[in-house]
Amino acid sequence: MKSIRSLKVATAALITVLLLSLLSGCTSTTQGEGGAEEADKATEQKPIIVQGPMPIEAENFAEKLNNVEEEKSGTFVFYKGTVDDYPVIVTKTGKGMENTAAATAVAIEKYDPAAIINQGTSGGHDPELHVFDIVLGEKTTNIGSLKTAHKEDGEGIEPRDWIPMDLMASEGSAGEDPDAENIRYFEGDETLLEAADAVKDTHEKGKVVEGTIGSADVWNNEVDRIQWFHEKYGTSVEEMEGAAAAQIAKAYETPYLGIRILSNNKVNGGEYNPNTAEANQDYVYEVVKEYISTIQ
Ligand code: SAH
Repeated sequence: MKSIRSLKVATAALITVLLLSLLSGCTSTTQGEGGAEEADKATEQKPIIVQGPMPIEAENFAEKLNNVEEEKSGTFVFYKGTVDDYPVIVTKTGKGMENTAAATAVAIEKYDPAAIINQGTSGGHDPELHVFDIVLGEKTTNIGSLKTAHKEDGEGIEPRDWIPMDLMASEGSAGEDPDAENIRYFEGDETLLEAADAVKDTHEKGKVVEGTIGSADVWNNEVDRIQWFHEKYGTSVEEMEGAAAAQIAKAYETPYLGIRILSNNKVNGGEYNPNTAEANQDYVYEVVKEYISTIQ
């Protein structure tokens, strides 16, 4: 009798242990999968940042967002919303390199974006490009980072002798380092370029081409100087922000693309037209929708 009872107890204990281990096995598997799923979802849900310097270069896009919330950091305005239920944050950065670099760093630190698109108006360097044409920044470069030639008192100024200066070449003195005498190009992200390519036809007011975007806190109106950049750097257009955003995006390894419409082109008489800013945002909206469909 006693042995049957102890056998029953032992069997019950064994079943309990088996059940418990089975249950805990199930629980840990579920937790494991759930955790991975959540991590995947979080990656999928990283926002896309769309930057525009001036109100006319950001607000049209901001109006296209759903569920918009406005956040400010310093003078930078972040319109947080969604496109096709995916998070997109439009940033009004303000004009110029410093505003753009800071707004990019703040955006990366605060929102951990999947990608950054810097877009807006620009001035043509390529005589083949006309007002309302769009340049996809296969490359972006800083055309304000220059080292002058050595000249003594009274020897004058020779801008054509100025040498490109790569501030990322080393941690030593760029002024002394011959390795820094190179043009630094920031590459546009392949997946973003593919998305932009895929929706080229939606832009009907001009053509869409791949090219090189040059940036500096300078508005060049000297045609000879513009031609010097076009020949030496291969610039298609100039503006005042892209290279700053590209440099910071590169520092954090965040995918980046510049998309610039020509609002003026001094080399072929293209007069400034502010309506180009809205046309560019319409096109970039299509690019963002296409990009979302490819990364999801
Ligand atoms: N033209 C306007 C203001 C433009 S300010 C006015 O006079 O009020 C400069 C902005 O336009 C910058 O954000 C810059 O990226 C863009 N831009 C357009 N064409 C440019 C050009 N030819 N050179 C430099 N920046 C240009």
